[in-house]
Parts: sequence; structure tokens; C-alpha cells
Amino acid sequence: MFFSPCPLFDAGVVRIQRRECDLRQETLQYTVLVMSCIFCKIIDGSIPSTPVYQDDQSVAFDDLHAQAPIHTLVVPREHIASLGAAANHHKPLLGHLMWVASEVARLKGLGKGYRVVVNNGSDGGQTVDHLHLHVLGGRAMNWPPG
Ligand code: AMP
Ligand code: ZN
Repeated sequence: MFFSPCPLFDAGVVRIQRRECDLRQETLQYTVLVMSCIFCKIIDGSIPSTPVYQDDQSVAFDDLHAQAPIHTLVVPREHIASLGAAANHHKPLLGHLMWVASEVARLKGLGKGYRVVVNNGSDGGQTVDHLHLHVLGGRAMNWPPG
């Protein structure tokens, strides 16, 4: 064991060790979330889906319980629990997901229009805690939404 004569140095070491411990705990929590997340399982291929589009940052697949003739979900490969949980550094990714939604609409031939929806939290109607954009089309949408 190394004993330093300087208490300030010791305090620094303890702080670094605590930070390392926090980081290990955060990584563990993230791993548990990913392992129990339906969309992470779709992304890694362990749950089947009907793929529509994919790139290095995102995946799009058809919704299992379609609410319109076309209903596709766009999800980031990174597990982010919700729009509200997105961090400052996710801003470019959020923009990319919007672009992917428009690409999905093109691929699906939704030239007459479509709707992009993000449900956030329980009042927002979110049921899967992995950020996703719904791309809905193939019929006229109602407004206001329920
Ligand atoms: P939200 O209610 O906004 O969280 O949307 C979650 C969506 O995921 C719903 O529209 C579900 O129908 C859809 N969903 C749930 N499980 C699957 C699955 N295994 N494959 C495709 N879509 C799914
Ligand atoms: Zn996930």
C-alpha cells in the first residue's frame, strides 16, 4: 500500500477512485437496461423485425401493431430512454433521426404526406423506454391527436 505524506493528494486519489466506481456502476446500469430493452434486442437481431432502413447510428423497422397502413419506427442504435433523456451531445443524433424519418417516408412512398410522432413519458403515451420516432402514413391523419 502506498501512503502519501500529503492529505490533499490522498483526497484526490479517493475522488478518482469514487469517480471510477460511479463510472463502473453507470456502465452496469446501462448494460442492464440494454439487456432488458425490446428495441435494443431488435437492433442486435435477437428479436425479429421487418427492417426498413439502417445506418451506423439508427435502425428503422415496421411497428408490430400498426396504427396506419404505414407505421415504421426509427430508433437510435444507442440506448437512450426517451427524448427527455437525450443529452446535449445527442443533438446531432436527434437531427439525424429526423432525417431518417423523412428517408423512411420516401422509401415507403408517402408522397401525399405523413406524420412523425415522439411519445415521451407516461402522459405522452410512451410504452417502450428506448427513444423512437413513429412514422405514420398511408391515410389522412386526424388532428388533434388523442
Ligand atoms: P410508444 O408507445 O410510443 O412507446 O411506442 C412503442 C411502439 O413499439 C408501439 O407502437 C408498439 O406497437 C411497438 N412495438 C412494441 N414491440 C414491438 C416489436 N417487437 N416490434 C415492433 N414494434 C413493436
Ligand atoms: Zn434500448
